[in-house]
Amino acid sequence: MTPGRSSERPAPEPDPTADQATKDAMSNATTVSPAHSASTASTLITNIAALVTNDPSLGDGTPLGLIQDAAVVIEGDRIAWTGDQSKAPATDNRVDAGGRAVLPGFVDSHSHLVFAGDRTQEFNARMSGRPYSAGGIRTTVAATRAATDEELEANVVRYLAEALRQGTTTFETKSGYGLTTHDESRALRVAARHTDEVTYLGAHIVAPEFAEDPAAYVALVTGEMLDACAPHARWIDVFCEKGAFDGDQARAILAAGKARGLYPRIHANQLSYGPGVRLAVELDAASADHCTHLTQEDVDALANSRTVATLLPGAEFSTRAEWPDARRLLDAGVTVALSTDCNPGSSFTSSVPFCIALAVRDMGMTPDEAVWSATAGGAAALRRTDIGRLTPGAYADLTLLDAPSHVHLAYRPGVPLVTGVWRRGERVL
Ligand SMILES: [Zn+2]
Repeated sequence: MTPGRSSERPAPEPDPTADQATKDAMSNATTVSPAHSASTASTLITNIAALVTNDPSLGDGTPLGLIQDAAVVIEGDRIAWTGDQSKAPATDNRVDAGGRAVLPGFVDSHSHLVFAGDRTQEFNARMSGRPYSAGGIRTTVAATRAATDEELEANVVRYLAEALRQGTTTFETKSGYGLTTHDESRALRVAARHTDEVTYLGAHIVAPEFAEDPAAYVALVTGEMLDACAPHARWIDVFCEKGAFDGDQARAILAAGKARGLYPRIHANQLSYGPGVRLAVELDAASADHCTHLTQEDVDALANSRTVATLLPGAEFSTRAEWPDARRLLDAGVTVALSTDCNPGSSFTSSVPFCIALAVRDMGMTPDEAVWSATAGGAAALRRTDIGRLTPGAYADLTLLDAPSHVHLAYRPGVPLVTGVWRRGERVL
């Protein structure tokens, strides 16, 4: 008979000399000890090896405001306290992060989730040597028009859940695959049920019915369609590109949106050099998105503005295109955001960690810069200060990594490191 170890050991007794921090450090598992279920209950997350706050006045003094051996207190849906775990206040509940890293939930400030259909064959063909052109959007337009509201909503819910599992707690999403007054406004209504960051993109491409008369389509986008869409959106966007809308058309569309109380953002300089970035700065757009082909004049304009350059490396990855030069923008003093551009044609990824890895490997960003851009940078691209940071008063949107440092997001590409997510103070993963 093999003696059982447990029967030889004395029953465990509480050890009054062991402090809680030591016990926490010995714990491998993330544990939750609920005391109250009221929404105003406070929760301490402690034993955080590396906490990204994005407050440069905290921790190591870098833009990430990195605190080692840190703790966070959540009260209701907000952050109530951030700091050294040895100084943490008493709370109702306690979570042991197990020596892992915590960072703000990702802010994905550019996605196109209201769509139907699939473009596997287009991707397959492109990866076999055919170049990408803006016309591929028409395939998704046909499928989206044919879909029911329920099908569109199910798609949004599916990709949102996918993004949440990868640490995204805020996302912007757009219309742009309807291109009729009815289909654009219903896309925005579907999106608005899931996020406040909704963008009217009637000007994604000229609707196929207007191919011979783009001016009439611009009149629709700035007239009847805008009237139907403005109540459901916060932002207006336009794809300023050869084959889509030129600078004058884009200016007219964004100006009409501004006059209806929508804030501008713009798909700019993705496939070629053009007027998009300078137009974004001229109109004080929150963000110029893509920024792959930039002149020095474009870079200087961004650097002297509060328009964020939102880089979307999933698009360059999925189209085998030239990478945007993040290093050049950062060195010029431009504020850079990183987002997925999740859409079925040119960037079918919902993974911000994947984009961080690409940005570090191929766009000249340091891991710290990429993590900042995917959190605080995304918030800046949405002109928000209540997300993308873990400081008192901000929303309690947090991502827990199964890793001791945020650097692992780039160091361990393709690995599902996100092991916990809190959104508005509630643990959702
Ligand atoms: Zn886009």
